Amino acid sequence: MFDAIIVGGSYAGQSAALQLARARRNILVMDDGQRRNRFASHSHGFLGQDGSDPAVIAETARAQLLAYPNVTWLADRAESAERLENGFEVMGRSGTRHQARTVVLATGIRDGLPDIPGLAERWGRAVFHCPYCHGYELNVGRIGVLAVSEISMHHALMLPDWGTTTFFINEAFEPTGEQLAQLAARGVAVERGKIRALESDPVDVVLEDGRRIALDGMFTATKTEISSPIASQLGCDLADGPTGRFIRTDEMKATSVPGVFACGDAARAAGNVAMAVGDGAMAGAATHRKLMFG
Ligand code: FAD
Ligand code: MG
Repeated sequence: MFDAIIVGGSYAGQSAALQLARARRNILVMDDGQRRNRFASHSHGFLGQDGSDPAVIAETARAQLLAYPNVTWLADRAESAERLENGFEVMGRSGTRHQARTVVLATGIRDGLPDIPGLAERWGRAVFHCPYCHGYELNVGRIGVLAVSEISMHHALMLPDWGTTTFFINEAFEPTGEQLAQLAARGVAVERGKIRALESDPVDVVLEDGRRIALDGMFTATKTEISSPIASQLGCDLADGPTGRFIRTDEMKATSVPGVFACGDAARAAGNVAMAVGDGAMAGAATHRKLMFG
């Protein structure tokens, strides 16, 4: 029986694992290698690693983590989990079963992208969700915001700080007079034409009426989904965020199920690498406390 099984071995999971490894606990990390930012070649805003390749950040962390002999790494998907009398059992996709006294869920989220031809190919290269991550590199250029619903007002009102902003409504909602006034006050141009496709490099918006609007970059909200059903299987409470559900935790990253902790994107309404690392460290320390004191 392990002291802890950490499901998800990216930034949040590895950060939790590192604390537990250093507390000399026997831990298992299960990871199937689907980091949320795997589409991007540069990661920004994480102190000390600004502009680094996000894969290199994760791989460097993993090499340091695997230097601890009490860490076991399993490249497998955790398919399901259940509560035992004195802990938990996690089943791997490859048919393996693993028991532990505690579980840390660091499974991240999946981004459901708007269904527009050419968008998926540009995700993480010219189309983004987070202005703090990718806005600066657009050099105060031509920026598009693609509406998915009224929640995109928030994006549209932010982006003028990063460049000349056009808000593509794309029939996703109808702005009120008050919203149009807010957009005008921020200098946002409103484009109501329906989008046919995204094309070219870095990104042109091609409208149904044939017009083509060249941009340096585009921002849009995604429909987010917790990457794994394990939180639900274990009975953890979920919460509703603006783009999707996430695992509810307290300030020590404990879920509603005793012995189960959650961290990173899976456990917050919106997150980034720095927050995942911070959450993970907190979850690791809280898990250790649970192992020591019950
Ligand atoms: P993730 O990094 O998503 O990792 C979750 C891990 O869990 C994955 O390895 C996955 O395979 C694994 N997993 C999930 N379910 C299971 C399971 N059942 N069994 C086993 N393993 C499982 N943030 C920044 O700070 N700066 C940026 O520049 C930046 N750029 C981004 C660009 C793009 C295109 C996107 C989409 C996001 C970007 N982000 C950026 C956000 C950043 O990717 C996330 O905040 C961060 O990855 C969250 O870390 P995490 O550990 O919580 O989850
Ligand atoms: Mg993780």
